[in-house]
Amino acid sequence: MEHRRHPLISPVPGTERQIDSFHYGPADAERHLYIQGALHADELPGMLVAWTLKQRLAELEAQGLLACRVTLVPVANPVGLDQQLMDTPLGRYDFESLTNFNRRYANVADEIAAGLDAALNDDVAHNRDLIRDRFEAALDAMTPTTTLESMRLTLQRLACRADFVLDLHCDFDAVEHLYTTPAAWPVFEPLARYFGAKASMLATDSGGQSFDECFTLVWERLRQTFGDRFPLDYGCQSVTLELRGQRDVDHDLAAHDAQAIIDWLRHLGLVAGEAPPLPELAYPATELAAMDFLHAPIGGLLVFHARPGTVVEAGQLIAEIIDPISDRVEPVRAPQAGMFYARSQRRMATAGMIVADIAGHHSHRSGYLLAP
Ligand SMILES: [Zn+2]
Repeated sequence: MEHRRHPLISPVPGTERQIDSFHYGPADAERHLYIQGALHADELPGMLVAWTLKQRLAELEAQGLLACRVTLVPVANPVGLDQQLMDTPLGRYDFESLTNFNRRYANVADEIAAGLDAALNDDVAHNRDLIRDRFEAALDAMTPTTTLESMRLTLQRLACRADFVLDLHCDFDAVEHLYTTPAAWPVFEPLARYFGAKASMLATDSGGQSFDECFTLVWERLRQTFGDRFPLDYGCQSVTLELRGQRDVDHDLAAHDAQAIIDWLRHLGLVAGEAPPLPELAYPATELAAMDFLHAPIGGLLVFHARPGTVVEAGQLIAEIIDPISDRVEPVRAPQAGMFYARSQRRMATAGMIVADIAGHHSHRSGYLLAP
């Protein structure tokens, strides 16, 4: 194991922070996996899974069973982790720029593509290595000016050469689910099975330049531009694993999730040994464009009538919003059949806020597909 420290730009004197990365397996391994936890710093189940993985990966490395390089960042967002406001942990938005910590990662596709066709050839491995070199060089050429930019760039640089990127998040109150691209689904479908994903939502570009997509979109773009002339694979596939809800920081759950990741690595041949049989997929993959955010029609007390993990019918009552002064009671119903997989932790709804998420089957959204 190798421990590296990556200092971040200090916003004011006396507040130095850093990203700590841990590296396992042969440095010259052909395949590279990147895992980070708690980029949204109020989503801590991923940090516990990462810590659990630290022990497991050290054991596998000591036994000579790791056939890939693994880069692990258990605390991806030390800035957000320090956002405690009057006994309430925050950590989703940067205070200075008011932006979501998981949006607006650098898009260097233009820099990579410039003059690329002169260097590509008929060898897919050559092309992959070349693009990774250019990807890394383009990120290295950027000069961050703020703490947030230096944090984003540090994480991107650590992950940009990885074959697989696993970004560990969670929702507010939710069952196991994940987000990935249609192209990556065959790679991650076994992980979804081991993990027990109750919803798997697929989109190529959900519009936010989020961490997972800042890698895959580069390869999408290069394949679109050059793929008819040169063999280009996906040099990086990424998935955002949503490890249930914010309160699900639990040793049994973390052990299950860490084991799911290791079983998936065995399945891919990246950890020696036989992978356990694949469990059934708990719920079919759906398009992210078919997912519905259910909004509160008025402000008021939010009282749920269903729990996450419930397969619901169109029109099924999910929650009620109660105005105790006017006695108005507004139902929140499922607009279509699907998997009700996540709900708000808040119980005083503000008018228009998102109260629940349902993975439906009828695609009807386009453009920006994510929560704020
Ligand atoms: Zn998140």
